[in-house]
Amino acid sequence: MKNTDKQEQYLKKAGEIVSQCDRCGACLPVCPLFGAKDIEFSSARGKNNVARGILQGVIQPTPAAMAVLNFCLLCRTCVDNCPSKVQTDEAMIALRQYFAEKNGTPGAKYKALGNLMKNRTLVKFSAGALKVLRKTGLNSLVPHGMAPGEFTRKEYLASFAGPAALSGSVPSSPVQLAKKAKAAYFRGCGMHMMFPDAEKESIAILRSVTDLQLVDNVCCGLPHLAHGLRGDFLAMAKKNIALFEKADVIVSDCASCSGTLKHIGAYFADDPEWKDRAAAFSQKVMDFSEYLTHIGYTPRHRVAAKLTFHEPCHLGRGQGVKKQPRELLKAAGDYIEMKDANVCCGGAGSFHMDYPEVAAAILDKKRINIENSGAQIVVTECPTCLVQLNKAAANSGGKFKVMHISQVI
Ligand code: SF4
Ligand code: SF4
Repeated sequence: MKNTDKQEQYLKKAGEIVSQCDRCGACLPVCPLFGAKDIEFSSARGKNNVARGILQGVIQPTPAAMAVLNFCLLCRTCVDNCPSKVQTDEAMIALRQYFAEKNGTPGAKYKALGNLMKNRTLVKFSAGALKVLRKTGLNSLVPHGMAPGEFTRKEYLASFAGPAALSGSVPSSPVQLAKKAKAAYFRGCGMHMMFPDAEKESIAILRSVTDLQLVDNVCCGLPHLAHGLRGDFLAMAKKNIALFEKADVIVSDCASCSGTLKHIGAYFADDPEWKDRAAAFSQKVMDFSEYLTHIGYTPRHRVAAKLTFHEPCHLGRGQGVKKQPRELLKAAGDYIEMKDANVCCGGAGSFHMDYPEVAAAILDKKRINIENSGAQIVVTECPTCLVQLNKAAANSGGKFKVMHISQVI
């Protein structure tokens, strides 16, 4: 396909979506960006109007227009609250791809990020380097909180000492899977690089309930898809489809990975060669807490800790997985629902690096809600949320800790 045809294709897709917007404004008050920066362009309506202007030729596709379309968390809060269910996030992704095709690149920063995440060796090397930084205490030199100090399950249990603190290993779950069911773990880049302790716990839990397959998978491709690197996304998706063909269930403890992998089938719907394989792959994907509640997993311990849950956008709105993590947490400790638990924390992939001040303003609301809940631990299921919440914990002066759900249940 010629590059101009590709540009047309992405413009057309965005046009089909934004033409459904009747400009009612219901999305304005719910957009976390509109709350942090009260200008029309922050909201879905503003972005959709700019998109319409580009499509009609009354707004030129300049870097300024591109900046408006980039200023989006892709959190889907607008979609959830829109009477016409306008998929603004999908339109923004299509338009970012349009700009990347038009300019011949998504920009040096996203290209570099995409190349890192595409290369499994580089991801492994980064994971090792971040581990060394954390061990030596030099992690504070890494900007954007990308290598936070870890709070491990061992420390968690020691903090709430009781019978649970005595159990070092993971006991087998009483739940039995069907004999033929083969579950495989999808190793997310973010979890692997930034939260290896949590990754270890996820694997230990999964091993206690199934004969787990460990596959040397590549990135789920979300960073590429979100920033105009669709070709890379499709190439990695094909690799992952082939790698997991023998698994019956593919489990990911990263909401962004599981959310993306569940949608891979849709991206190959017009590809006769990959259509069926991609659809079969997506149908096998389960989020970590979704899988565990599905098979009737019982948490390894119950401690007298006050827990609250921050619901990642890609988990709740992206996959409809809302009650499962809460059920698990209720069985593992004293669960408290915080205000606006499902509102974005401002992380959103690289958004918190691109717009640190806006992300900090969004995060501060989250910090206040966590503090007001009285929880000692805020639990979540996404590495970017973990990065953000660790910053909130530091800003709270140690009023609460942050953990991945696998470290708590
Ligand atoms: S709520 Fe939906 S229809 Fe209304 S302005 Fe926002 S995107 Fe458009
Ligand atoms: S996806 Fe989120 S950040 Fe983007 S316009 Fe919708 S509500 Fe706002």
